[in-house]
Amino acid sequence: MNLPSPLLETLAGQQKLEIRRVRPVSGGSINQAAKLHTNKGELFVKWNESADPDMFGKESRGLRLLRNAETDLTIPKVLAYNDQKGDPPGFLLMEFLTPAERNDLDDNQSSARFGEQLALLHQHTDKKFGLDHDNYIGRLPQSNQPHSSWVEFFIHERIGPQIKRATDRQVLDSTLLTHWENLAAHLKDIFPDSDPALLHGDLWSGNYFFDSNGKAVLVDPAVYYGHPEMELSFTRMFGGFSGSFYDSYNSVNPFEPGFAERVPIYNLYPLLVHANLFGGHYATEVQSILKRY
Ligand code: ADP
Repeated sequence: MNLPSPLLETLAGQQKLEIRRVRPVSGGSINQAAKLHTNKGELFVKWNESADPDMFGKESRGLRLLRNAETDLTIPKVLAYNDQKGDPPGFLLMEFLTPAERNDLDDNQSSARFGEQLALLHQHTDKKFGLDHDNYIGRLPQSNQPHSSWVEFFIHERIGPQIKRATDRQVLDSTLLTHWENLAAHLKDIFPDSDPALLHGDLWSGNYFFDSNGKAVLVDPAVYYGHPEMELSFTRMFGGFSGSFYDSYNSVNPFEPGFAERVPIYNLYPLLVHANLFGGHYATEVQSILKRY
């Protein structure tokens, strides 16, 4: 695998890297990624020649927020990024964290530790839902205007912009807007209260792995202060989180009664994002949830 020449030149010039070997890393949904063997050890770089490079600056800020929370979750340290248009392309350079071989792990123990540490991350709170800057979810913009109420935040910063995008582009039929308005009017009776909690914001099984010490490594965040049930709901959308993860989360931050029934409502957000990015059955799922209201 070859890195684009302007990226190679920047890494060599600006970062004084001698790159000895480049190995592609798969698993991302947006960017190209590689493991670099260098004079400064093993590094991870991801880049994108077409998407908005601002994505990488925002991702770097999100990773820093998660690192600063000082839980026992491992968050990769960023060494450099480019968030400007032109050459080199947008990129993010960070330490490479080695995933464990599956049979090196006691899965239950690692998952339990992960659940406990995620619950501790969620104990980092702020005064308002949102963040002091907007960022991205996948390659779509994510608005984080602060709100005092979770319901208002969910309506105006999460579902509102995505449902507008989907109906404007005919990914979804505009008749669904009436169903959404019906649901939105009831949300204050559906969502339990919560303090605004620090969330990874895009926590599916492709965005975590265990290192050889069994510690969870979290990558590719879309950070904001939100309702912890939003994060837990998304972990259930594609699976890949074990029973011991949820049990141990629950022992630190107990689930509120009725959580399971709220999951499809929270997951309207990632489903809409996926419908806007990929269309297809995600749009059908959004439709079947909204039609209940
Ligand atoms: P994308 O932005 O394209 O979704 P990701 O950030 O999810 O890309 O990275 C792609 C894959 O690379 C992830 O699934 C993860 O397994 C791996 N990865 C990400 N960051 C690191 C890192 N710092 N060290 C090792 N592997 C990483």
